Amino acid sequence: MDTSPIIRKTAADLRVAPNFADYDGERRRFSWESVGRELAGQPGGTLNIAWQAVDRHATGALRDKTAFRFRARGRPPRDVGFGELARLSSRFANVLAGLGIARGERVFVLAGRIPELYVAMLGGLRHGAVVSPLFSAFGPEPIATRVNLGAGRVLVTTDVLYERKVAKWRDKMPTLEHVLLVAEDGGGSDIPGTLDLAALMAAAGDESAVAATGAEDMSLLHFTSGTTGTPKGAVHVHGAVATHWATGRYALDLHADDIYWCTADPGWVTGTSYGIIAPLLHGVTSLIDAEEFDAERWYGLLQDEGVTVWYTAPTAIRMLMKAGAEIPRKYRFPQLRFIASVGEPLNPEAVRWGKEVLGLPIHDNWWQTETGGIMIANTPAFDIKPGSMGRPLPGIDAAIMRRHEDGTVTPVEEAGVEGELALKRGWPSMFRAYLNNEERYRKCFAGPDNEWYLTGDLAQRDADGYYWFVGRADDVIKSAGHLIGPFEVESALMEHPAVAEAGVIGKPDPVVGEVVKAFVSLKQGFAASEALRLELLGHARKRLGAAVAPKEIAFLPSLPRTRSGKIMRRLLKARELGLPEGDTSTLESGS
Ligand code: AMP
Repeated sequence: MDTSPIIRKTAADLRVAPNFADYDGERRRFSWESVGRELAGQPGGTLNIAWQAVDRHATGALRDKTAFRFRARGRPPRDVGFGELARLSSRFANVLAGLGIARGERVFVLAGRIPELYVAMLGGLRHGAVVSPLFSAFGPEPIATRVNLGAGRVLVTTDVLYERKVAKWRDKMPTLEHVLLVAEDGGGSDIPGTLDLAALMAAAGDESAVAATGAEDMSLLHFTSGTTGTPKGAVHVHGAVATHWATGRYALDLHADDIYWCTADPGWVTGTSYGIIAPLLHGVTSLIDAEEFDAERWYGLLQDEGVTVWYTAPTAIRMLMKAGAEIPRKYRFPQLRFIASVGEPLNPEAVRWGKEVLGLPIHDNWWQTETGGIMIANTPAFDIKPGSMGRPLPGIDAAIMRRHEDGTVTPVEEAGVEGELALKRGWPSMFRAYLNNEERYRKCFAGPDNEWYLTGDLAQRDADGYYWFVGRADDVIKSAGHLIGPFEVESALMEHPAVAEAGVIGKPDPVVGEVVKAFVSLKQGFAASEALRLELLGHARKRLGAAVAPKEIAFLPSLPRTRSGKIMRRLLKARELGLPEGDTSTLESGS
């Protein structure tokens, strides 16, 4: 645990009266039923995320208020109001209906942060389809794997991404019937075997009935990575909207007149839960920037768009820190009043940097794909201990678990003990399944009545109830905030004719947290060389895409394996970092 001085909240840190000021009192008073009452009013007693996020406002006072302000280099800003968003998402729902897509069927989206992506996701939810966003920096293999696991019937993407990443793999995706393309140049698209989304939207009507979904109906499918096997499809439900509403209030302190900027891409869960749903629920205006990170641009957007609440990630903050103190001196941020961050450990220096450079501390918070929403957070209601993830939000019970030899777990009462972070089930956005993998899902729960969800993270809690991240209990890699499964990378490398075996680790990196590093041994007849190393890097990048591919590859004569044949990634990592090798009793002799 860091011993950095606590950042005490001052009046200057709280430029408006916060939603959440009394931690203990609010936790005592809180109930999910009362959040449910806030969200009541949907016709017929149904619950649909798109209705809650868009229609609720589109027919009322916020009809003409900007819901999304889209920014992209070389184009004028495009503002889409709540009323227009309702019309567009309704049209998209009609497009799906016209294609014969039924409730519960899977619609995948693969695009950058363009307006059509937001419309397709909200329209898909409105229609009662299950929406699965894919990161646009994925390569063809992660895309096809996920579409197949999720039995995608529809894919919405752009002409450029389609030609680059999907077209050649189309016959490997047998469930995929309809590909709807957005032309990146703004015109039409006529690629054989696909449909032009703009034309379909133009022909569709403005009115559609919102699907009569209930709280337990499946809404979103977010893929996440584990240590072994294929990616896991975390199943989420429409009822999750209660968590999005509550956390938007408590952890992001959203107020009606905010200009909010979530920098996460909707290809990952943060960009959906907090880049789309939570701000819309609260009727705030969101800035969406299509461009990649650029320090000058980001400071400019914070200033020029008058951003008030900013939700970003440690890698981005470290990149801003690296870009130096000169750039921010050129800008002013008088509107900015609350900053939060998620996805990876936030260094204490970064929390303090926020205070120095932007005039505000950064509020780290913790959650994961499976939890659907923020669980543990630094909030306006208490002082920040830099380096800590904060405290459980109202409605969330967390614990540190001790594992016993017989496999059972019990909560650790004492402070300062390391164990697995667990959450008591019962919050509305908890994932309901790993798609088609009941056994893997069941393994996540333990304790009496299986009431504890084990997160796979190691953490400890201090005497004041603050939680501190220690590390992952498994081998998954967090690079630039994106969770990467080593198995997926190893499998792609193994497809190269020269590779006999591959082991992939996360190598600590001061900016992006971890970079993906692969160790490979070669088949007979192949010799290690710089040319082969570059060829393997290129092969992996082509298949996996820039977001997942290894940045470094090293050759080894053979990889350390357990006697049962599993590659010991832990040992590869210890050797790479010059750390003690730990327990090697299961190591196969000679590795
Ligand atoms: P994902 O499911 O891709 O959102 O990744 C979730 C994982 O990211 C968690 O299980 C943690 O390992 C890590 N993570 C998320 N937020 C934090 C945080 N504030 N501090 C440390 N690790 C975090």
